[in-house]
Amino acid sequence: MINGSISFWYQETGIPPLRPPLRETLDADVCIVGGGFTGLWTAYYLASARPDLRIVVLEKRFAGFGASGRNGGWVTGSVPGLRSRYAADRGRDAVVAMQRAMNQTVDEVISVSGAEGIDADVAKGGVLHVARSPAQLRRLRDQLAVEAQWGNTDVVELSAEEVAARIRVDEALGGSYSPHCATVQPAKLAQGLARAVEGKGVTVYEDTPVLELRPHRAVTPRADVRARWVLRATEGFTASLAGLRRLWLPMNSSIIATEPLSEAEWAQIGWEGREALGDMAHAYMYVQRTAGGRIALGGRGVPYRYGSRTDADGSTPQRTVGSLREILAAMFPSLRGARIDHTWSGVLGVPRDWCATVGLDRVTGLGWAGGYVGTGVAATNLAGRTLRDLVLGEDSELVRLPWVDRQVRRWEPEPLRWLGVHAMYAAYRYADARESRTAGPTSGVATVADLVSGRR
Ligand SMILES: Cc1cc2nc3c(=O)[nH]c(=O)nc-3n(C[C@H](O)[C@H](O)[C@H](O)COP(=O)(O)OP(=O)(O)OC[C@H]3O[C@@H](n4cnc5c(N)ncnc54)[C@H](O)[C@@H]3O)c2cc1C
Repeated sequence: MINGSISFWYQETGIPPLRPPLRETLDADVCIVGGGFTGLWTAYYLASARPDLRIVVLEKRFAGFGASGRNGGWVTGSVPGLRSRYAADRGRDAVVAMQRAMNQTVDEVISVSGAEGIDADVAKGGVLHVARSPAQLRRLRDQLAVEAQWGNTDVVELSAEEVAARIRVDEALGGSYSPHCATVQPAKLAQGLARAVEGKGVTVYEDTPVLELRPHRAVTPRADVRARWVLRATEGFTASLAGLRRLWLPMNSSIIATEPLSEAEWAQIGWEGREALGDMAHAYMYVQRTAGGRIALGGRGVPYRYGSRTDADGSTPQRTVGSLREILAAMFPSLRGARIDHTWSGVLGVPRDWCATVGLDRVTGLGWAGGYVGTGVAATNLAGRTLRDLVLGEDSELVRLPWVDRQVRRWEPEPLRWLGVHAMYAAYRYADARESRTAGPTSGVATVADLVSGRR
């Protein structure tokens, strides 16, 4: 089993040769810091709208090094964050508009990938959520009622038989299906996008860590970029920038990828529709059937490292691999002996209020987008189009979405941050284990953990 090496997705594609670093101070119109999906989509839409702009991307390692090249590949229409919280600030209609925009974004990602000739193994199979305990089933039904309130009226409940007709998940008591999700090979999408933005005249500097963001300036060890607009697109790595340590908490997520499964194994499982697959556990997991016939299954491992440290190459503790393997075997007992070929981890950004944000300060020229709380593959595209409109001063529907210019308080100093996150995930593990043993309702322990951590 390969452990780390960025991700299985890069094992498939190979890590591309590095682009040259920034060596000399230069002037630009727009300087984007971070070459993940946020940075690349922003560059893409700005360069498409205004080919005359001088746009540069500064990337610490290489484009797609972070979560964008490591994720579970769900291009989901989920609104990143708590819709009720956005609504409390900006009203229900704004959230319904955001949900509609997110659903459309799934198709936007697919359509731009097609138009740019990016072959990212895209499959639009929707998303199937399964409930594997009575408490999970109750939460799933509550969730369905909530979806309709936000205008997501095409999410449907499935009986246990209907779930099995799609994917035979052991002990599934029922499920829900939404058409608003596709799956991709994320490293292929990130690399294809980097090439597409270069094709539009954007310069991507790799091996170029930004140390500090100042008004109209990004500072790197060798040289600076002076620009009218400096846009931060560093998500889970934001804590490493001067002055931003407690802004967004870097949360880890880990994935295992099985060997390619045989036709006989697939025949037992079904899964011909290439749906993304998730469950209703508190310590949520996410799965895709890859184009190469493997299962990639992700979930929480060690959720957070002391002092907001982030890893370098995705290496994953053995006990995390063990717990993800257990989830795989519980869902698909016939795969208990399946070989795991690769495991890796990545880091995502969590704001204190668990809601994503996009913004631009017209005085300092500093902009930002991120804090997608684990659902950023599609949301980064919407954020990129929104940043485009903010930079260009367009009074569009996008700049009125409820995540624009959201101000949030910072996370607590250590050791409170570490203790809080670890206690929350211990509570979720306890609640999940208890719910799977009993027929009772949602465990009160999980509800308290949600309230204390700010997830409700
Ligand atoms: C394991 C895992 C699974 C996930 N699964 C899903 C999923 O299935 N669906 C979904 O919607 N979301 C998922 N997510 C979340 C999603 O991947 C992210 O929200 C999204 O990729 C964020 O993109 P980004 O460009 O904002 O950040 P990143 O992709 O992390 O990019 C940030 C970039 O900034 C660079 N950088 C950092 N610091 C500096 C600096 N100082 N100077 C210059 N460059 C810097 C980094 O090297 C990196 O390339 C997952 C995340 C992880 C970690």
